[in-house]
Formats: sequence, C-alpha cells, structure tokens
Amino acid sequence: MSAPLLPEHISRRIAAIYEEIETQYDQVAKELGFSCTGCPDNCCDSYFLHHTYTEWAYLWQGLDALPAEKRQGFELRSRQYVRQSQEVLARGERPQIMCPLIDNGRCGLYKHRLLICRLHGVPSSMTRPDGQQLLFPGCFRCQEITGDNEDVPRMDRTKLFQDFVQIEMEWLGVKRKVLPKVKMTIAEMIIKGPPEFSHCRV
Ligand code: SF4
Ligand code: SF4
Repeated sequence: MSAPLLPEHISRRIAAIYEEIETQYDQVAKELGFSCTGCPDNCCDSYFLHHTYTEWAYLWQGLDALPAEKRQGFELRSRQYVRQSQEVLARGERPQIMCPLIDNGRCGLYKHRLLICRLHGVPSSMTRPDGQQLLFPGCFRCQEITGDNEDVPRMDRTKLFQDFVQIEMEWLGVKRKVLPKVKMTIAEMIIKGPPEFSHCRV
C-alpha cells in the first residue's frame, strides 16, 4: 500500500460529507417510498465527469487499499472503458458503458464512490451563486413515483457542493490556481493514477 495521498483530517471530512449525503438520501427516499430494490436498470452505466482533485485522491485511497490483483482488474477494465467511450464520443454520442468498478453487479469501491454516484436516484435541488435554483428530478424510477409534481421531498445539493469546494481550496491552497481543471470519468481517474503535484512549482 502506498503512503496516504490525502492528509488524515481531509480524509475524515470527506468521509463525514459522504455520510451526511447517505443520511439525507435515505431520509428523502423514505419520505418518497423509493428504493433501488427490484430495479431492472443499473445506472452505473451513466456517463459522468468529475471535477475535484479531492474526490480523485479519495477514490485512489480506496483503490490503494484493495488487493493488487483486484485493483489491476479495475485498471484493465478502465482502459477498455476509456477506449470504448472515446469511440462513442468521436461519433458525437453520449457513452453508456458500465463503470469499470462494477463488481458482480455491485459497486466494487462502495465506500469511496463519488459524490454524483451518491446523489443519483432521488430528486434534488441546487441554488447557484447567482441565486437561480436548479431542480433535478431523480432517476426514471423515482419519476414514476413523483410524476410531474415538483413539490416533492428533495435533497439540497448546494451545501454539499460548497463543502467540497472548501475542502479542495484548503487542501490544494495556492496550487489550485495553477493546476489544470479536473474533468474526468472514473475510468480516466483510475488509469491516470492518483493525482500528483511534483511538477507544480507553487
Ligand atoms: S463508482 Fe460505484 S456507484 Fe459509482 S458508477 Fe462506479 S460502480 Fe457505480
Ligand atoms: S438509482 Fe434509480 S435507476 Fe439507479 S438503480 Fe436505483 S432505482 Fe434504478
């Protein structure tokens, strides 16, 4: 196992936010009478890009703790994922390819899965810095419960996203201003290896 990339206090804060998301998600799901049980779909084939060094490093913290053989299996599937998704993107289409971390139908890195994975399912909202409120309806199965009704229980993403921005700023400090923006799939985060900043001169 390699040395931890994230300082201990940053890891603990990420884990605490993820736990808070689970609590809020379960509460909204309970109020709606919604669950994933019996779903014919597996939404882990949705194409998402992720945007923080913090989550990238936390993902790698989980990968580093896996037996080498398991991690190498995920890396191999990540390379296949990236190759296939690039072909689909080159055709101008949105990829729909199973996440390379799926293991026997379940998330193979459940405790380290990313923010977007944790929010998908129930309705949510977010207030942008300009005050505009965005509404997210939840997955297709949740929409079977809520229909067109917008006045439903929902998670508020605003503070969760703000917390991640705050952690990113604290961890990276001035480096954040010069590092390239993160815009990667989970597969890309896996094949690139953990983020490293040795080239960064600030
Ligand atoms: S990280 Fe886990 S929960 Fe997220 S898409 Fe991949 S398999 Fe699914
Ligand atoms: S979040 Fe929705 S689409 Fe995904 S597995 Fe659960 S019920 Fe199915």
